[in-house]
Amino acid sequence: MENNIIYTVKEVKKETGNVFTLTLSYDGAVKPFRAGQYITVFFPETGHVEGKSYSISNIISPTSFTITVKSIGVFSNKLIDLKVGDKLSASFPYGYFYTESDESSLVLISGGIGIAPFKAIIQESLLKTPNRKIILFYSNKTQKDIIFKNEWEDIIMKYPETFRVNHYITQEHVEGGIKSGRIPVSDIIEQSKNLSDPEFFLCGSITFVRDYWRGLKDGGIPEISIYTEAFF
Ligand SMILES: Cc1cc2nc3c(=O)[nH]c(=O)nc-3n(C[C@H](O)[C@H](O)[C@H](O)COP(=O)(O)OP(=O)(O)OC[C@H]3O[C@@H](n4cnc5c(N)ncnc54)[C@H](O)[C@@H]3O)c2cc1C
Repeated sequence: MENNIIYTVKEVKKETGNVFTLTLSYDGAVKPFRAGQYITVFFPETGHVEGKSYSISNIISPTSFTITVKSIGVFSNKLIDLKVGDKLSASFPYGYFYTESDESSLVLISGGIGIAPFKAIIQESLLKTPNRKIILFYSNKTQKDIIFKNEWEDIIMKYPETFRVNHYITQEHVEGGIKSGRIPVSDIIEQSKNLSDPEFFLCGSITFVRDYWRGLKDGGIPEISIYTEAFF
């Protein structure tokens, strides 16, 4: 089985001002994948031979999934410029940003586009282990930047006993259940203290992941319970 394959773009959907979700599918032999993995995308014409990584943001079928891309530079802009029917050279999904446990509670902490793998992780968990508790802490600059805002509201309505989301907004005044400022580590620790076997997942920029990893560790969370995925 080839490691790098050609995907077909099935849909391109705008999520927020500069964030788009692409649905990709491939026709070849199936190699199993799961939420928490990512693909490496190749655009040889850029001269960047290693390619760049994009997390699976939703699993649609054994041969189809989405990635969610924030447009900031060369690769991300090439991705969001793709049209339905276009081909994309990329790897099979790989990576280890997931738990092997079916019973732990999930505490997910993300900033901005760092939400991408959590969307897939939450959906997979609700499908396969619906009784597992999930708390999402999600930080954005403004309310308009909240990616998948409607989806979070739908999931809360559907799974009020299972899923809780905490939104934090750093660069505008907010009210109505949304908190201002960065996510305090004390909020994370407070809300997770009654969870059974909590595991902590951090995803965002390198500084975001580093700061919360240190904060959780200083707050007494064992390193073995902290999983990280830094976007760079
Ligand atoms: C494991 C992994 C998973 C990833 N998953 C995703 C994903 O699901 N969605 C996604 O959009 N990206 C994801 N990334 C990041 C992605 O791989 C690229 O690094 C990103 O798209 C920028 O590449 P570019 O070529 O578009 O920008 P470049 O042309 O490399 O950079 C353009 C400019 O933006 C600056 N810049 C780079 N990163 C950021 C940032 N995060 N915020 C602000 N400015 C920045 C650079 O310094 C530069 O000035 C992931 C990275 C890793 C390692």
